[in-house]
Amino acid sequence: MTTGKKNRKADLSERKEYHTESSGVFFKTKKLLYRQSSPYQNIEVINNEYFGRVLLLDDLVQTTERDEFFYHEMLAFPALVTHSSPQDILVIGGGDGGVLKEILRNPVRYACLVEIDSQVIEVSRKYFPWLSPSLKDERAELVIADGREFIEGIEKKFDIVFVDSSDPVGPSAYLHEEEFFLKLKKCLKPEGIVVAQAGSPFYHLESIKEKNSYLKKLFKVVCFYISPVPTYPGGSWCYVFLSDEVQPLDIKRDPPAGLNYFNLDIHRAAFSLPNFLKEKLD
Ligand code: SAM
Repeated sequence: MTTGKKNRKADLSERKEYHTESSGVFFKTKKLLYRQSSPYQNIEVINNEYFGRVLLLDDLVQTTERDEFFYHEMLAFPALVTHSSPQDILVIGGGDGGVLKEILRNPVRYACLVEIDSQVIEVSRKYFPWLSPSLKDERAELVIADGREFIEGIEKKFDIVFVDSSDPVGPSAYLHEEEFFLKLKKCLKPEGIVVAQAGSPFYHLESIKEKNSYLKKLFKVVCFYISPVPTYPGGSWCYVFLSDEVQPLDIKRDPPAGLNYFNLDIHRAAFSLPNFLKEKLD
């Protein structure tokens, strides 16, 4: 994730993700495990002594072995515990399988994952085997397609739609636009919820503000929430919870046992926002 500026070229021993022209994070590469270009993006997997395996797309960190649970649990569970019976789930993006893994811990009937880049799925199967078993769960269907085209053609309705997109550049740009959210709304059953990742509360404040103002025109409930993600810019990350009927603090179900980060106290706290962010959302 980045503010959108293209990363400088990294040599093989170091991977840098620039968050501004003059700051960012770096990973020492113990071993380069994979490096290929797909039709959509450059895909790399490195091994870092502290974070273990790190997946990068176009030089931007997507997930790491050590801290993936923060993001994947916090994307998945706020909606899963507030919907009274989540059965039919759609994920747009998320080809690493991490959010699908969390969804399938629940007794859902069907989860459809729509990923544009089949190479991300293959890489995850090979290098992130702890995430990817979800990809062959019998309740899961994998569709290799652009999320934009997929939702234009679909008649099926879903209880929850998760948008696990990359940054708003390239094929992911549309997944951050108002028109896309309007189309997602049409895919929802009554009591439906959409949850999307929304960027860094520190680096992407203006885009969060803009998103909030158009989303408020589309949904009655627009609630941003926050969690730490150590390897994302600024160390904390925003998500947005959207619905016409469900309030995020009206908890209906307990989460499954065995999670690393999410619990119901974390859930309630995550919707309490810092003043600098609240001011932008008023
Ligand atoms: N958790 C990550 C983050 O916020 O850094 C996002 C991870 S996930 C790997 C993002 C995925 O979205 C990528 O695999 C990318 O190929 C996929 N993607 C990008 N644009 C897409 C589109 N238009 N339709 C479907 N998938 C898309």
